[in-house]
Amino acid sequence: MRIKKSGYFASIASFVTGIVALSVLIGWIIFNSAFKTGAPGIFSFKFHTSLCFLFSSVALFLLNKKRERSSELIIAHISIFLALILAGITFSEYIFKCDSGIDELLTNYNLTTNQYSAQMSFISSIVFILLNVSFLLLNYKRFHLFVQVLLMFGIVCLSFNLILVAAKLNYSKPNQFIAAALNVTALFLILYGGTLFSRKLIYLKFSFEKKIAGCFGLVLLVLVIIFVSIDKNNERAKIIEQKVEHGNQIIIKSQKILGLVLEMETSIMGYVISGKDVYLDSYNKLFPQVNEAITDLRTFTKQDSLTHLWADTLANIIASNITIRNQIIEERKTKGYEAAYDLFHTSLAQRKMNKLREMVNKIEDSKDQSVTNLEAEQVRSSLDTKRTILLFQIVIFSLLIIAFLVIYKNTRERNNAKEEIVKNNLFLETVLDNIPNMLFIKNAGDLTFLRFNKAGENLLGTSREVLIGKNDYALFSKEQADEYVSRDWKVLGQKEVIDFPEEKLATKFGDRWLHTRKLPVFDSNGKPIYLLGISVDITEKKIAADQLKKATEEIYDLYNHAPCGYHSTDADGRFVEINNTELKWYGYRRSEIIGKMKFFDLLTIESKEGYECHYTELKKNGFLRDVKFEVIRKDGSIFPVMLNSSAIYDAKGKFFRSRSIITDYTDRKKLDDQIKKFNQELEIRVEEQTAALKSSNTDLERFAYVASHDLQEPLRMVSSFLHLLERRLGEDLDETNKKYIDFAVDGAERMKMLIQDLLEYSRLSSSLEVLKEVDSNLIIQNVLHLLDFDIQKENATVQIHPLPVIKARGPQIQQVFQNLVGNALKYRNNTPLKIEIGCMEQDHQWQFYVKDNGIGIEPKFFEKIFAVFQRLHSRKEFEGTGIGLSICKKIIQKHGGNIWLTSVPGEGSTFYFTIPKMIS
Ligand code: ADP
Repeated sequence: MRIKKSGYFASIASFVTGIVALSVLIGWIIFNSAFKTGAPGIFSFKFHTSLCFLFSSVALFLLNKKRERSSELIIAHISIFLALILAGITFSEYIFKCDSGIDELLTNYNLTTNQYSAQMSFISSIVFILLNVSFLLLNYKRFHLFVQVLLMFGIVCLSFNLILVAAKLNYSKPNQFIAAALNVTALFLILYGGTLFSRKLIYLKFSFEKKIAGCFGLVLLVLVIIFVSIDKNNERAKIIEQKVEHGNQIIIKSQKILGLVLEMETSIMGYVISGKDVYLDSYNKLFPQVNEAITDLRTFTKQDSLTHLWADTLANIIASNITIRNQIIEERKTKGYEAAYDLFHTSLAQRKMNKLREMVNKIEDSKDQSVTNLEAEQVRSSLDTKRTILLFQIVIFSLLIIAFLVIYKNTRERNNAKEEIVKNNLFLETVLDNIPNMLFIKNAGDLTFLRFNKAGENLLGTSREVLIGKNDYALFSKEQADEYVSRDWKVLGQKEVIDFPEEKLATKFGDRWLHTRKLPVFDSNGKPIYLLGISVDITEKKIAADQLKKATEEIYDLYNHAPCGYHSTDADGRFVEINNTELKWYGYRRSEIIGKMKFFDLLTIESKEGYECHYTELKKNGFLRDVKFEVIRKDGSIFPVMLNSSAIYDAKGKFFRSRSIITDYTDRKKLDDQIKKFNQELEIRVEEQTAALKSSNTDLERFAYVASHDLQEPLRMVSSFLHLLERRLGEDLDETNKKYIDFAVDGAERMKMLIQDLLEYSRLSSSLEVLKEVDSNLIIQNVLHLLDFDIQKENATVQIHPLPVIKARGPQIQQVFQNLVGNALKYRNNTPLKIEIGCMEQDHQWQFYVKDNGIGIEPKFFEKIFAVFQRLHSRKEFEGTGIGLSICKKIIQKHGGNIWLTSVPGEGSTFYFTIPKMIS
């Protein structure tokens, strides 16, 4: 099988034929009979035959090559034409019985003493012509089938020839018109077989039908041959029978002649001895009978020239014999017995008689021999026929066995194929049913549905039993069916796959949109037999696409009619897109701008100056924010714009486009200018007011300081004179006056305290103390030491968390802690007093706190208590001047910090203050 497929058989065949042909040719050239024949003394090749074999083998070898080069093709064709010329001329010589002289032309040099003729046999010439014509037709595919049949026919004929020659049947005298020599036939078979299995033809498979037809054709041919053979044998037997009969007749007739002549002889003898006329009469009577018998013989042998010649000779002998006999009669009549007797016994007369006898015997012998030969030939012929019939019976039997094997094999293959088809169908059905898209098959003739998959059933909401066998008109509206059918015909007519991107389909569940692909399915002759349709349900996609389209339109509308300008530029800064708003501002048409102008071209000379710098910045940073330019409109007018851009980079990170928003800056510019003007005015006013405030503050602080400083002296005087007055009057003072003087002294003392507090408060403003690093822990230790007495008195628990080192004015911070802890000790309730001091670190500051569980403060007083001299309690309830927290607030503010509190009345308060970590 592999040999057949790869065309090796053809190569081997051409190689073998070529070698044999070449060796024979060499044999002819050097005149060596051993070379010339495959089997010396039995068969030989003619010179021309070998030449043609060589040409044919070269042609087959080259044509069988996988990829023939053009030079090889040329050589192959030259070989074919040479073989055709040689075989064709020989063929013509046989047909027209002429001599072209080609034998002498080709073989003159070596054939002077040759016993063989160079001319090939008639049958060989035909076989070569057919073979080389086949070679020529191998290049045309449409003739391949014809060539295959031709070669097979040739192989069959050659095979029969081979069988007959090999069996030596009926070919004791080979007929050159039908029989070729054994070796020639064998080589022809190899060449024909090689060509049949050559690379150019092996694709043509021997189908089952071809094989069976071939077998039965051969059987028929064999039967015909048998019948012809039997018929011919019968005919030949009849002829032989006739020939035997004819021979027998000749023998009888010649014996009859001899009998008559002998009788004549006896009559003459009687006449010579007796001289009686009665013998003479008898002789005379016999005479015409002899003549008649000879004439009869001659007429009978007319067809057979040899026997006819013998009959003539016999007639002549008899005629000369009769002449002598007549002389004897004459002698007896005239000279008497003695003379006649002498003459009768002369050697001449005897010789003549003997000759006659010899002749008759010769005829008899010859005919006997020929009859024997004919009978033997008949026996041999009938034996040949029997053997032929037996041989062909074997052939028929073999062919029938082959046919049976082919049918058996084919039946098995068919059964396997059927099973395979059933399996494949099942597989296909499963695949089709599990494809999520609708799939249908229509008959190409009437467009009725032949197949529907599950997805199709689900889509239409109809089972396939209902759908199959129906056409579109039975399932859809006429309008829809018309459309589908026209599309189907288009596909079938154009014989190609056509896509229908949007096809509406009315289903039980409402209208659906399909993307359908339709394609024709062809039979082996290329005629469309089915129409296959595959539909994808794109309804959701279409809805989404429609929505997207609408949204895109809306966005585009928004883009075009936005209250600001949008544009995109390419890497060179040339406009690639621009919205209507911006176009309107510039006064140009889109076609004048897109791809032609740059944003740069629209700028005023002043704006152009900074543009390059901004553009480089955009490419580098990827954005531009609020850059102001002045743009020249088409009509030459100028207007200010503000540009915000972002850069777009390609996959390689190269800048290739910018997208910009342009704002008309005309109104904003006016507004900006106004704001600028207002701001400037405001700044001047603030500066003026600040200066005024500063001076009034300074005045006020100076006044407070002076007032508190200066008021201390008269107060001290009031206080000391009151004491003096109290001492002087001593015992004279009644209780009421004493009480009045105490009130006055107390008032003066309080006044003094107030003034001192005020003085301290005002001093804070003018403090020139610098910031230093101080340890808050040490500060707290100092405070606790100072307040130790009160702590002991109040039996308070003070909890101190680790505190940081801060940059501050140490005494002032100590004052803050002192005031806060002092207040905690002062504003307590009945529960055991607990004070907690701590600090939390924050990003840029320290947040200190002082927490107590005292009386607490109502939230509405959170602000009030930090004001100067603001108190929430009477002096009777709690001592104090109401300046402590004001001082704290001022100190903390001076440090750049803040002070506040959280408190729940009755539960306690927490005072917080912050000190920045770095104070400049
Ligand atoms: P003084 O304590 O001299 O009255 P301050 O300025 O220190 O003045 O306090 C103002 C007022 O805030 C106080 O009169 C008091 O009513 C209230 N206050 C201050 N600290 C506390 C505290 N720890 N608990 C409750 N009330 C307080």
